[in-house]
Amino acid sequence: MDADTARFKALLKKNRYFATKARVELFELLQNRNAIRIKDLLTLQRHQDQASVYRNIKVFEELGIINRLQLGWHSKLELSDTFQHHHHHLTCLKCGLVISLPEDPILEKQIGVLTRKNSFKATDHQLEIRGLCTTCR
Ligand SMILES: [Zn+2]
Ligand SMILES: [Zn+2]
Repeated sequence: MDADTARFKALLKKNRYFATKARVELFELLQNRNAIRIKDLLTLQRHQDQASVYRNIKVFEELGIINRLQLGWHSKLELSDTFQHHHHHLTCLKCGLVISLPEDPILEKQIGVLTRKNSFKATDHQLEIRGLCTTCR
């Protein structure tokens, strides 16, 4: 078990959820992977009961384990900053491609400046840049 999986299990326990085999498997599927559509996640979890996969996704969202990226009509899921490096996305509105951008210290600093200017205490942020990829353009 890696350190993130251990932290994941501790987070579930703290919130009175059992670290069931199905939940650990779902978490590990999301590790080291780009944002994924729920439909594709269900395909990967074919052997699991679909309703319980949906329930576990809901639990993960409530506990801030995953983020939902809105892509026009559908959405994709990925692990939150708690379990992977903070980053932003370029998303293609036509084919749904999601490119994860490398961390940009200047951008992050600027977001901090804007937040403080408004006397706001930020807990987290997301930044989606939508458009068309090279294939769809
Ligand atoms: Zn595209
Ligand atoms: Zn950021």
